Amino acid sequence: MAAPADSGTKVITGHYGIGAGAKSLDHRAPLWCLMLATQWLDVVFIPLFLLGIETIEMLPGGGYGGVLIHADYTHSLLGSLVLSAAFGAVAWWRWDRRLGLLLGGVAFSHWVLDLIVHRGDMPILPGNAGDLPLLGFGLWRVPIVSIPLEAVLFLAGVFLYWRAARSVGPRPGSRVTPTLVTAALLVSGAIVLVLDALGI
Ligand SMILES: [Zn+2]
Repeated sequence: MAAPADSGTKVITGHYGIGAGAKSLDHRAPLWCLMLATQWLDVVFIPLFLLGIETIEMLPGGGYGGVLIHADYTHSLLGSLVLSAAFGAVAWWRWDRRLGLLLGGVAFSHWVLDLIVHRGDMPILPGNAGDLPLLGFGLWRVPIVSIPLEAVLFLAGVFLYWRAARSVGPRPGSRVTPTLVTAALLVSGAIVLVLDALGI
């Protein structure tokens, strides 16, 4: 049985790339909030995992993407739409409609990316009600494709972030420059992807 954090480290770099890239769509969206949005479904997964409602099944061999994730509520199509809408609604209330739609969309992008890599373990309805077909294109079976895909998504996202953040410039009085944040993103992303690829 994998540790709860384990599921969070799957596809993390690809998700983060989308979060960072979304900054270019609206500069007002704080980076922390974009990052939280990309991981929102997995954040909700953690308490359900600890309660034993959602589970992770290690496949023989394990390693990078070698898991079946029975996240039948948070990663069901309907469940993820509801969770993403809730995230977007809070952002709408906190800021405005535009940021609400953007952050809700980023939250749902998690499901879309998971759909590409998961091995047919994502139900349509919460709890796999009605026993409908399970979704997931299973790209994790082909790490030679999925790892570079994650890297490309991540690098493209960080580049878009860097370009957007640079055009806005650092906050007055702040020593944290966009280039510094970009460097930190790159280093942490590279570490996570390498650990992931090694199946650690
Ligand atoms: Zn996920």
